[in-house]
Amino acid sequence: MNSGEKHILIVEDDGFLRDGLAMLLEREQFTVRLAGSLREAEAALNDDTCLIILDVGLPDGNGFDYCRHIRKTNKNIPILFLTARDEEYDVVRGFELGGNDYITKPFRSLELIARVRALLRRVTPDETPTDVSIVLHPSRLQASVDGRIISLTPTEFSLLHKLISNKDQSLSREQLLAALWDGDGHYIDDNTLSVNIFRLRDKIGHEAIETIRGVGYRWRGLK
Ligand code: CA
Repeated sequence: MNSGEKHILIVEDDGFLRDGLAMLLEREQFTVRLAGSLREAEAALNDDTCLIILDVGLPDGNGFDYCRHIRKTNKNIPILFLTARDEEYDVVRGFELGGNDYITKPFRSLELIARVRALLRRVTPDETPTDVSIVLHPSRLQASVDGRIISLTPTEFSLLHKLISNKDQSLSREQLLAALWDGDGHYIDDNTLSVNIFRLRDKIGHEAIETIRGVGYRWRGLK
């Protein structure tokens, strides 16, 4: 099955949301194909699929498992996960499995379009190194990098989680401070943020966190 036209595959079992997404994307001149289950997704996916918008909870399986399945044969197709608000830890899991980005429901139309455009712009050259080798263990406040266990403070852990969850996006110092603040209610000041970034680089690897001058930081991943 090959339509010969580049399209975005929307995999979502909520018909109302699926149709809404389709309308939204078509209005922006994208061509879409729709699937309400993994079985339908598998039938619709072909060489002309240029991006997959993938729900996590589907009637015949889990979007993360499907992502892993796709990555066995296709390393480059961008995958944007749709997640529910309480699945934040799973988001990290999604990145480990090769997802490129995620958006939390409910989302704003403009944000979705912006993410889609960003993913389509980022045409990945072959065999780009990814940070599949880092795994976070929230309950133990640890990260494992290539199997090496690294213990983190609660602040370092939150910081790392925030950076990885927003992979390839620049996060302002304000955004990072806001993410750290809600933990124990302890206020983290600007200087403490710098110190924590420094320590995190020391533990994880200096290359992994990039400084964006005048803005903040960006997770670059482990090479
Ligand atoms: Ca669902």
